[in-house]
Amino acid sequence: MTPDALAGSLAPLLDRSRLSVRAPLAPYTTFRVGGSADVLYEATSADDLAAAVCAARALDVPWFVLGLGANVLIGDRGVRGLVIRNRATASRIGEDGLVWSESGAIMEDLVLSTVRHGWSGLEHYIGIPSTVGGALWQNLHFLSPAPARERTMFIAEPFVSCEILTEEGTRREVHADYVQFGYDDTVFHRRRDVVLSATFQLERADPADLHRILQENLSWRGSRHPWLAIHPSAGSIFKKIEGVGAGRLIDQCGLKGFRVGGAQISHIHANILVNLGGATAADVRALIAHAQNAVLERFGHHLEPEIGFIGEF
Ligand SMILES: Cc1cc2nc3c(=O)[nH]c(=O)nc-3n(C[C@H](O)[C@H](O)[C@H](O)COP(=O)(O)OP(=O)(O)OC[C@H]3O[C@@H](n4cnc5c(N)ncnc54)[C@H](O)[C@@H]3O)c2cc1C
Repeated sequence: MTPDALAGSLAPLLDRSRLSVRAPLAPYTTFRVGGSADVLYEATSADDLAAAVCAARALDVPWFVLGLGANVLIGDRGVRGLVIRNRATASRIGEDGLVWSESGAIMEDLVLSTVRHGWSGLEHYIGIPSTVGGALWQNLHFLSPAPARERTMFIAEPFVSCEILTEEGTRREVHADYVQFGYDDTVFHRRRDVVLSATFQLERADPADLHRILQENLSWRGSRHPWLAIHPSAGSIFKKIEGVGAGRLIDQCGLKGFRVGGAQISHIHANILVNLGGATAADVRALIAHAQNAVLERFGHHLEPEIGFIGEF
């Protein structure tokens, strides 16, 4: 189906003012790389998100849910079918510390509003670009820098439940036993369910302590990672290698600063590739392959990408 025909078929089923044809996706990713979606739809509520997925399924066209685009590389030839940008952001904080949020809510907004109300549980994730849906998809995590809390925190910890649209097309509430949280992994890697909303249980805390954690985490991040506003990236490119560190191996190959076209291995974190401006997905893929070959040859380790490769390259 051509993009125009697809948009025409979707128009009676969705809000046509939020449908666009041949829509560039790079601005909706943190890497700022990649081609266009045949058709892009901006979903603004959980119901709207479910309706968009159901519409694509009814028409039997490929579909993809995009959060903040912080863990994906979009191919230069773009994405066929329907890309649904999740902008369902409603949330509420209950007196009992139960936080409910639609899956397009941005983690940073949720962190700041819960901290402001003196609730602890999400503050560790400050500074990580993610929607709630993306966070659940990969079990968002962060190695907290402060000595007293030096361990990896996972979004699975405050998680209570989420509402999903299942692969089979029903809406249901599911808990951790269904989600199967692992390291960088959940059931959503294996099933085409869509997270519509999520509930977290937070605990009372002194807002001053929470603000201290925000400051520690942000300054730790600021001193070790390239600054996203200046150097677009998708965070860590390769999966962690237990006890070794993918970044350390790339660094030991002397590759910090190595460049292909507009893509470069960051000078300050070798597991992060940055877009110096005008990088293509082909540049990024060539740089990934170069790092993989160098590390395999020198150390015998295979570096496995952790980002999603979406669309046609
Ligand atoms: C500068 C930087 C720093 C980072 N630091 C960290 C870090 O410290 N820890 C960490 O864990 N990650 C980190 N990341 C990676 C990234 O922030 C996470 O993977 C994040 O959860 C991605 O969320 P997103 O909304 O951008 O998802 P997207 O990149 O838009 O999508 C990722 C995947 O999730 C799926 N998805 C998104 N929403 C839904 C939904 N509602 N239902 C079902 N599937 C969905 C998408 O279809 C896609 O397959 C970092 C990234 C950057 C750019």
